[in-house]
Amino acid sequence: MVTAAVIGAVSLIAAGFTFIQANQEQVDLTARLQSRAQLLADSLAESITPSVRNASTSSVQRIVDKFATQERIEGLGVFDASASPIAISRDIPQAAASSSLIALVMDENESAGAFVLGDGQSMYVFAEPLTSDDRVIGALVVVQNAQYIQDRLWIIWRDNLVRLLLQIIIVTSAIFVLVRWVFFRPLTRLVDSLKSVRAGVRTETDGAVHAFLRPLTSELSKMTSSLRQARTAASEEARLRLQKIDSPWTAERLREFIKAYLKDRPIFVVSNAEPYVHTKVRNKIEWSVPAGGVITAIEPVMEACGGTWIACGSGNADKETADKDGKIRVPPDEPKYTLKRVWITPKERKGYYDGLSNQALWPLCHLAHVRPQFRKEDWAEYRKVNVLFAKSLLEEIRHIERPIILVQDYHLALAPALIKKSRPDAQVAIFWHIPWPSAAQFAICPWRKEILEGMLGADLVGFHTQQYCNNFMDTVASEIEARIDYERFSVFRGGHQSRVEPFPISIAFPGNAEPDSPADRSMIESLGIRTEYLALGVDRLDYIKGIPERLRGIEFLLDSHPEYRGKLTFLQIASPTRGGIEQFQEYAQLVISEAERINTKFATRDWKPVVLEHRSYSHKELRVLYQLANVCLVTSLHDGMNLVAKEYVAARTEEGGVLVLSHFAGASRDLPTALVINPYSAEETAEAIHKALTMPESEQHRRMKSMRQSVREYNIYRWSAEIIKTLAGV
Ligand code: UDP
Repeated sequence: MVTAAVIGAVSLIAAGFTFIQANQEQVDLTARLQSRAQLLADSLAESITPSVRNASTSSVQRIVDKFATQERIEGLGVFDASASPIAISRDIPQAAASSSLIALVMDENESAGAFVLGDGQSMYVFAEPLTSDDRVIGALVVVQNAQYIQDRLWIIWRDNLVRLLLQIIIVTSAIFVLVRWVFFRPLTRLVDSLKSVRAGVRTETDGAVHAFLRPLTSELSKMTSSLRQARTAASEEARLRLQKIDSPWTAERLREFIKAYLKDRPIFVVSNAEPYVHTKVRNKIEWSVPAGGVITAIEPVMEACGGTWIACGSGNADKETADKDGKIRVPPDEPKYTLKRVWITPKERKGYYDGLSNQALWPLCHLAHVRPQFRKEDWAEYRKVNVLFAKSLLEEIRHIERPIILVQDYHLALAPALIKKSRPDAQVAIFWHIPWPSAAQFAICPWRKEILEGMLGADLVGFHTQQYCNNFMDTVASEIEARIDYERFSVFRGGHQSRVEPFPISIAFPGNAEPDSPADRSMIESLGIRTEYLALGVDRLDYIKGIPERLRGIEFLLDSHPEYRGKLTFLQIASPTRGGIEQFQEYAQLVISEAERINTKFATRDWKPVVLEHRSYSHKELRVLYQLANVCLVTSLHDGMNLVAKEYVAARTEEGGVLVLSHFAGASRDLPTALVINPYSAEETAEAIHKALTMPESEQHRRMKSMRQSVREYNIYRWSAEIIKTLAGV
């Protein structure tokens, strides 16, 4: 911007100067040309006049021919009183010979000149009357080439332009060097040193900064010292809290707990999805955090404890941003742990992820009436990728004694046994983030034994609820040879014990979000929402989430309670997911067409009941929506936990708002004071929304307070602490 302004100013000044210079040059050259023409005409007129007077055409012609060969003279002509030529040189340009100037100078009896264009060349025609006894008897015309004046002007403009270009290059380079070396470098250095102070790598900001930044650094070093003091105090407080078991868990407390309990044994997380995706947009690399429960839950743990997280690279700039081992320090703006990316081929991804994970295991474990598809080629890829993950992890832990390993989710069921086989000393947990179905339902899986054996390689198998644990134990009992100990809730096989326990996953609450300012309505106003009531749904576009059922609930409400028409808007944030899988595409279409159908049925000129946002929102944006929504609808047909329910509760600092929650989401066990519904019943959903919108504030507060208490007490830090404590104690 500054450079453009400087270049603009320099160009303007240069153009102004060039204009003046060219103008001056033109005036000088023209004056010289005119005086030369005048001189020549005067001397010729003297010798020609007697011959014209005597009508001696041949002697006139002789003089004309003699002078016409002179340099710069394009032609000469002598005309009689009626402007007819008496004698003209051979090459006199037509434009000059027929010039109206000749008649004019004879009429006025005064010489004159003019520029004319002939044969694409500029010429100067000078005409002088020939007189005898004060009577005009003819005229003399001298034609000179004036093209050199144009050429000269062009050279002036060209030279000045080249000079200007050179100046621009010099000025821009000077600005670039100045900004980069004198301004940016010290600034970047200062920012880097601030970052390392924030990340705890160093204690002081860089003192050797440029003079002009010194006032800033002195302020900053005061701030960093306050930060250090605050950190020490927090860490001290967390240490004290460790002894007080009923105080809330925080990131600090978890860090202190890990230090005290694991004595700095590093933690390794293995999951399919990565917490940071790098993508290239118009040659610029950007990063984002993908939507999803597992990442929301594990990320704060890794931030608190450090360690290494192994996951599939998925962004188009992931390779470029990672080192040759696929590693990168994250979070990108404040690195706290290592992300190691594993690369899989499109074929592997299709079989392992789209196929076995999401078309077989996902519908098998979620009772959403979508038929699982078991293909043996998918199973082959699934096994291959599990081996790949296990190898990548084994490489990382080869020099580490008794590492703690947390394997995440149904994509990696085989990894625990693979890891344990090579490293019996490792302590391995697998956390199954989705429901576990009944033994009878699981029995339809052709590879049920291999999956169970893979999982039972772990020392600890975790689920969200006791019900899923019970289902798992029943499945093991009916599928494989093992001793089931219901007293210790463990499976014993070949001398190895696997404990099976519920750990209801949660969120970072109270978290380290900045204090809330009153929620800004502009976000929903920009979506055209101006109604008194806002109902909100936030989900990946997944068929387990019961979005069409929810929409039918809204429809039923507007039918049975027409008083809400024009007063209530239902906003559904539908973040795209698994777009490569047919069932998910069909489901997205169904949701879109249901929303349209209901809008067509009820919409008026300035209101429509459903606003569908088919894109992913950031956590920050979602928090604003949670704060604005009078009611949040979680109507999953089956859901391991559902973190959106907990996030809604966490965002309601003023304890208002109502959560309508499916009985079939794990969260309904942790949040019993929500309005718990059967999502298959549109009537029940509609009645719950009506109840929510008419609920007295005191009741809203009572219910919300109790839910907030439950999320605060069992937050994500406690979830991790309990898993790690149980795992380390097995
Ligand atoms: N989420 C998000 N942006 C969106 C939609 C969802 O960040 O546009 C987050 C949401 O805040 C929550 C997670 O994705 O943290 C979804 O977790 P949940 O357990 O509800 O469902 P899952 O996607 O794991 O089935």
